[in-house]
Amino acid sequence: MAIPMTDLYVQYLGLKEEIDAAIERTIKDSSYVLGKQVGQFEEEIAGYFGTRYAVGVNSGTDALVLALAALGIGWGDEVITTPFTFIATAEAISRVGAKPVFCDIDYETFNIDPQKIEEAITKNTKAILPVHLYGLPCDMNKIMALAKKHSLFVIEDCAQSFGSVYQGQKVGTFGACGCLSFFPAKTLGCYGDGGMVVTNEQKTAEKIKILRNHGSTTKYMYGKHGFNSRLDGIQAAILRVKLKYIDSWIEKRIHNAGIYNRELAGVNDVVTPKITEKDKHTFNYYNLKVKKNRDGLQAHLKAKGIAAAIYYPVCLHLQEVYKELGYQQGAFPVAELIQNESLALPMYPELTEQNIKKSAQVIKEIF
Ligand SMILES: *Cc1c(COP(=O)(O)O)cnc(C)c1O
Repeated sequence: MAIPMTDLYVQYLGLKEEIDAAIERTIKDSSYVLGKQVGQFEEEIAGYFGTRYAVGVNSGTDALVLALAALGIGWGDEVITTPFTFIATAEAISRVGAKPVFCDIDYETFNIDPQKIEEAITKNTKAILPVHLYGLPCDMNKIMALAKKHSLFVIEDCAQSFGSVYQGQKVGTFGACGCLSFFPAKTLGCYGDGGMVVTNEQKTAEKIKILRNHGSTTKYMYGKHGFNSRLDGIQAAILRVKLKYIDSWIEKRIHNAGIYNRELAGVNDVVTPKITEKDKHTFNYYNLKVKKNRDGLQAHLKAKGIAAAIYYPVCLHLQEVYKELGYQQGAFPVAELIQNESLALPMYPELTEQNIKKSAQVIKEIF
């Protein structure tokens, strides 16, 4: 039996009746774009995060783009972020016309290194865009202190960190905006594309609502150039069902990570992620650092029917699309080291202990 990175169908089967009914109800209401389901889901997400507002959009990428645009970030502005993330983080900055400025990450956490942020601040810097990678919260105390000192916005990329907690507070609620993705493979995923921005600022929430709907203030009146970026009713209906279970699924992810850590303890050249009480890592991905022959290990796992993925094989500052920024190889040594060590193993709530042990066993065979 093969072990996949994630198994969305098995989760659906467990909730089939509820999800099918939710989809049917939405079709009956013909409430396909925004509408009742989206409005109720927005309220539930605001409740989950404890924020005053939540605005549904078309994707996590658009959540970032609209948050940046709503905060007035655009041409001539610089936004500091990590080079070790999914392309969408930096793409959103470029999309609004601003310039992504990368800085190196911390070896232990895979996340942006606050020490390096301050060195990257210039008179054009408008915001810091931290990514809570794989589900592990960034060092928000230090990031928020820097933002305050230099009067910068903080926009949190929470695409991989739904439900993660930093020192008792959910990530996404520290900065001006928290950006969520409901892409199917994320911790809270729908059956297509979907995203959301959470914020406590009324003005920002209102701007995003206008921007997502063609810049329309009232029907057929347009004050601004906008986007078509609205959350679908069917996706919201599915997400409302799944939201009821999300905390138990997150606990299962953490439990599964604990089994991996236990099984892989003491294996040479394999570093397992830390699980701490204080900061809650929600394990959208379970990531190892493999210090020797990472690609060989991946191939070996594959041969045994066990999926393993590299998030991410090439840092963003070394991508063709960002040649224009002029970064050289070696610019961010930690990120460049980790791109060669990082290896994600299968992770989802329904993953069995037996399969976790099987994957660990295969790893132990070659180390
Ligand atoms: C998935 C992801 C996004 C983009 O989300 P989409 O919903 O796929 O557009 C942004 N940032 C990170 C870190 C992601 O993993």
